[in-house]
This record gives sequence, structure tokens and C-alpha cells, in this order.
Amino acid sequence: MPVEQTTGSIPVYNCFQRTIPHGERAIVQVTILASGSSGNATLISTAERRVLFDAGISRRALHARLAEAEIDPTTLDAVVVSHEHSDHISGLISLLRHHKSKTGRPLPVYLNERTHHAIHWKTLDPTVELIEPGACFSIGDLDIRSFTVPHDAADPMGFVVQAEGHRLGLLTDLGYVPESVKFHLKGCHFLLLESNHDLEMLKVGPYPWSVKQRVMGRNGHLSNDMAASFVTSGVEWDLHTLVLGHLSDHTNHPAVARLTMENALNEAGLRPRLEVAEQSGPVRQFTW
Ligand SMILES: [Zn+2]
Ligand SMILES: [Zn+2]
Repeated sequence: MPVEQTTGSIPVYNCFQRTIPHGERAIVQVTILASGSSGNATLISTAERRVLFDAGISRRALHARLAEAEIDPTTLDAVVVSHEHSDHISGLISLLRHHKSKTGRPLPVYLNERTHHAIHWKTLDPTVELIEPGACFSIGDLDIRSFTVPHDAADPMGFVVQAEGHRLGLLTDLGYVPESVKFHLKGCHFLLLESNHDLEMLKVGPYPWSVKQRVMGRNGHLSNDMAASFVTSGVEWDLHTLVLGHLSDHTNHPAVARLTMENALNEAGLRPRLEVAEQSGPVRQFTW
């Protein structure tokens, strides 16, 4: 059973702990610093590396959130960027300007070529590591597979991260879940999954019709119902923790997103730990 602990003000969820041969405890930590339509940033840490996935909040906000998680911002090793939308990169340039890696070199940013060209870097000359969408790459002891997702950006990607024997999926910003994406996420122990909007709230919500069409479209965002039907669609899960994220402030509510998923999980007989990451809620941290 998961054990809930408290570190400072932050709940820590120990879903399971794997004993490695030397008798030491393997530690992988996912820290969701921000998740929602207004900004996204998730840190994955191992004994060797701290890698930030997206930097969609200001550097100041990022520092505050890292401080809340008792993480020193000077210990970041790299940033991985999913796509160029501002809620994923708004703090990126400032972060790269002001931070160096532990080795004293500029912080490298991992992204694909089309995303690189879609970002207006201003006067910054970033240290770029280009990723082929669909390819695997490693950052220290993190093995990362990128895969293409259907979304209205230059070349958007989702990720599966393997570290210390754990398999962690990051899947937000997609209009639907293609079979290829289901294939990549097989066997994930942890999944951060977009649950962007409630369809009825979107229909009556404040956005112009063109925006509603974009959000609902095949290259838009996953609704609560779509997220629920994906999780219960027969994917071979080994899912211990499911975190719903990238919720819209205007067309969703955490309780609605949770209830939709809970009902679907119950019907399917699946029992992962279910959490909802709220845009203005506390930093969420998961440790194995
Ligand atoms: Zn996006
Ligand atoms: Zn987004």
C-alpha cells in the first residue's frame, strides 16, 4: 500500500520502494511543480540527475515552487521541452540565461528541431541537444523515450522515462490518444495524464467558438471523458499512481475531473492511486 509521508509542507507518496542489489533504496522522485493551462513544469530526480520537463512558469515562480519542494534550483541538470506553447516554455529563456548545470556549463535543453525553430530565443544562444521524435535518449541514469502526440504545435511530444526500474509517463497536450501512444505507455507505473476540460463546461464556457473548436479538435486537448476512456481502454497497465493534470481553470474543476476518472476506474476494476494536480495547488511529489 502507498505510504503517505510529509516533508515540510509537502505530502510525499511512497507508492513502492524497490530494493536494489546492494541493499540501498532506489529513489526516483517526480515533483509536479505546476500543471494546468496556465503553466507546466515537472521535475524528475534520481540519485544522479535532476531533469525538468517543460518550464512553463516564470523563473521566479519556478524558484518558489522548487523552494516549496526543498529543491535547490542550482542542482538542475537539463530541461526537456515537449512543445513551444507558452504554458510549457514561458520561463525557459530566463531559466537558461540564469542557470548553469552542476558542471558549470550552460544548462542543456533537449527538444526536437521543429520545436527549436518554433521558439523565439531572443538574444539567447541555447545549448541544444536535438531529439528525434520517437527516439530514445539518456540523461545520466534517466532513459527517455519521446513520442509524437496529436496537438496543434510544430512537433509536440510526450515522454516515457525509465529510471531505477520505474516507468513514468508524461502525457499532456493531445487531442486524442492514438494507438502508437497507447503502445508507448504500456507498463507505466506512474502517469501524469491530461484531463483538460469537461465537455459540458467547455460548451457553455466563456471561450469564443473558434477556441472551443480548437480545444475539442483532434489536435486540441483531452477531455475528462477521453482521459477516462483511455485509461480504461485495455492498455496493459502496471499503474500505481495516476495524476490528472493540465486542467483548464475555466472549463474544468478538480472535483469533476476526479469523479469522472474515479467512476471509470471503478467500472474497469482498476485501483491506482488517483491524484489531481491543480494549477494553483501545492507542489505534488511522488517518491519511489
Ligand atoms: Zn500545447
Ligand atoms: Zn499545454
